[in-house]
Amino acid sequence: MLRRDEARERADRLFRDLFPLCRSLTGDGNRETLRRLGEVVPLRLTEVPSGTRVFDWTVPDEWKIRDAWVKDSSGRKIIDFARTNLSVVNYSEPVRGTFGFEELSKRIHTLPALPDAIPYRTSYYKRDWGFCMAHREFAELDRGAKYEVCIDSTLDPKGSLTYADAVHRGQTDAEVLLSTYCCHPSLANDNLSGPILSVLLFDYISKLETFYSYRLVIAPETLGVITYLARNREEMRKVLGGAVITTCAGKGPLGLKASFLGNHAVDRTARQALKASGPGWVEHPFVPDGSDERQYATPGFRIPTVTISKDKYYEYREYHTSLDNLEFVSGAQLAQTLQVYVDWFHRLEMVRTYARKENCCEYQLGRRGLYPNLGGAINQPGASAETVTDRDVEAMSWLMHGCDGETDLLALSERSGVELPVLFRSARRMHKEGLLVEQLPKEMRK
Ligand code: ZN
Repeated sequence: MLRRDEARERADRLFRDLFPLCRSLTGDGNRETLRRLGEVVPLRLTEVPSGTRVFDWTVPDEWKIRDAWVKDSSGRKIIDFARTNLSVVNYSEPVRGTFGFEELSKRIHTLPALPDAIPYRTSYYKRDWGFCMAHREFAELDRGAKYEVCIDSTLDPKGSLTYADAVHRGQTDAEVLLSTYCCHPSLANDNLSGPILSVLLFDYISKLETFYSYRLVIAPETLGVITYLARNREEMRKVLGGAVITTCAGKGPLGLKASFLGNHAVDRTARQALKASGPGWVEHPFVPDGSDERQYATPGFRIPTVTISKDKYYEYREYHTSLDNLEFVSGAQLAQTLQVYVDWFHRLEMVRTYARKENCCEYQLGRRGLYPNLGGAINQPGASAETVTDRDVEAMSWLMHGCDGETDLLALSERSGVELPVLFRSARRMHKEGLLVEQLPKEMRK
């Protein structure tokens, strides 16, 4: 059972601690973020040198940013990286000089529709520089003045890209992937909520004995995951499916982005978990757009991943602006989504296939204590004090009928209408009695 209050407090602490760090595709902000997340769960950090080819891509030079500002003619800083790291275009090359308004304004990004918000902009693959500011402040700038500009940054060809992973070994080698990204600077729901939920979920899972194995990946979005996949191609063969964890602590509704298969066990168990969480959640169909599911779903990998979100990227006004801040998210909102992921994990663990030891006719359950001994009491609630309930008997009838070594428990639950946890409890009992043999479901084999 997840302790929601404790999860909420841990999430709030991590949000406060990690929010100010300047993360990017590469750099010390990422290393420091991963180091602090590594205090929650042990993480293995890997550095991949700049210039390394990863499939069709190349790991870029490492971005190091120390300071950035724009001063007006009175020497006042009208833009200041020290105030918010969103105010410099992420991956800006170094600049020093004096510019007229006309020239400088081409380098300043604003959002006229959200005049108080500072937008988030990056220029990873084209050498460029620029600033971001609130449109309301931009509109007040003196158009006749000269401005002094400084971006104190380095693009280091001897640098590297950093990612982290961890594996929790279960009873089987079949792996469930939990993937998240860590490349956005001071932005809370997209994307700090993702790594925070991921480490709390992985911490919860790694304290249990599990059927499946679990792989946690924290890498910069897109290129970081491409790098991870290029470096772990063989390992990924064990991965049966999983989740791309992002945007999970907003104020809005819970949501599901389905996998590219749409009806894989990872999807169906996620729908069950969301249904159990209450009404009002929304489903988004798969499109090869969005986050790292795009890489995992390509023909070379074909790993189906779901996303359970709370205010999914693209769906909220504050997305990729300074308004996606610590007031927009909360530990309590994150804990609500974490609860759904925990429920999803428990249901996924129940997706196993059973075969009968003996296939002919029903078992005599009574002599094994698996049947209410007083005949005729079935479907009469409260009629006897037996520990085997009517629902258990119903579940065992379906198991004796359906356990053919082909049909997994999820499919049998859907066919029978018997809830997955009820079916699973009875299957475990019959397994313990030596009546059923446990197997890895076909869908979960690679
Ligand atoms: Zn984003």
